[in-house]
Amino acid sequence: MKVVVLSRNRKLYSTRRLAEACALRGHEVEVINHLKCYVDIASNRPSVHYGDERLPVYDAVIPRIGSTVTEYGTAVLRQFEMMGTYPLNESVAISRARNSLRSLQLLARGGIGLPLTGFACSTESTQELIRIVGGAPLVLKLSQSSRGKGVFLAETEQAAQTLIDAFRELDANFLVQEFIKESHGSRIRCLVIGEKVVAAMKYTARPGEFRSNLHRGASTEVVRLTPEERSTAVRAAKIMGLNLSGVDLLRSYHGPVVLEVSSTPGLRSIEETTGKDIARLIVDFIEKVAKPHHTRARGQG
Ligand code: ADP
Repeated sequence: MKVVVLSRNRKLYSTRRLAEACALRGHEVEVINHLKCYVDIASNRPSVHYGDERLPVYDAVIPRIGSTVTEYGTAVLRQFEMMGTYPLNESVAISRARNSLRSLQLLARGGIGLPLTGFACSTESTQELIRIVGGAPLVLKLSQSSRGKGVFLAETEQAAQTLIDAFRELDANFLVQEFIKESHGSRIRCLVIGEKVVAAMKYTARPGEFRSNLHRGASTEVVRLTPEERSTAVRAAKIMGLNLSGVDLLRSYHGPVVLEVSSTPGLRSIEETTGKDIARLIVDFIEKVAKPHHTRARGQG
């Protein structure tokens, strides 16, 4: 097969591993920076160009589009879809997953367990919002947060009110969420390919911290999932329409609750922690399902 990896940097661990895994399986693979691609939308023969070159029609595209360039990256991906290339994750599914409010609404509608969550922008009904999630302690999140930067724990209602007032000044969308204290600073990452959890690990926050982000000093270990956790992860991935995803769960008193479904899960910590060759499993999956003109959305929507 002819495979293209869309990535801004070929040296990134996940990009490198995916390219290596394709080559090892005898596929022709190219890494292309989507930001440097330009497209011909209007002609009846859609095409993508890179430098002075018109790119060939690939059999499969593996998108590794960063969250800061979702709009342009998914537009380029959609163009590949219009040319009939099989996308590991479709452009519409990536855009959907990058919208955290929309994702939570879809997961809730699909019956996936979530922490009690409210969202708001400039509301003055702070008390009511706090009541929705059962009062303090609670977690407040700026909806654009990444790496735990915009995530705060308010131990008291007063602290929550002060933070909400500050968010209101910023005119930012934010989430108010039940604090899952019983997860003890741990989060479970399930790596889902197709309809299977192929690997799972547990992140644990460093002492005195509730956010289990690696950038905040969290540690990782292999974890055994319960059947309920496994099926929650698979259902969440399916609702989001993602073939490859990282589903983050917290263990709560009311069962597994989903925090987030990532459309571009990093491969480094999951491969290093579990010792599994995830890149190879991804390529195996593509080999099984990639067919030209296979995307349901065909770049629409
Ligand atoms: P980001 O996308 O910025 O990493 P998350 O929503 O994943 O934001 O939150 C960061 C971390 O904070 C999570 O990995 C988890 O460890 C912790 N956390 C987030 N929400 C909750 C919650 N409702 N209850 C307990 N811990 C939480």
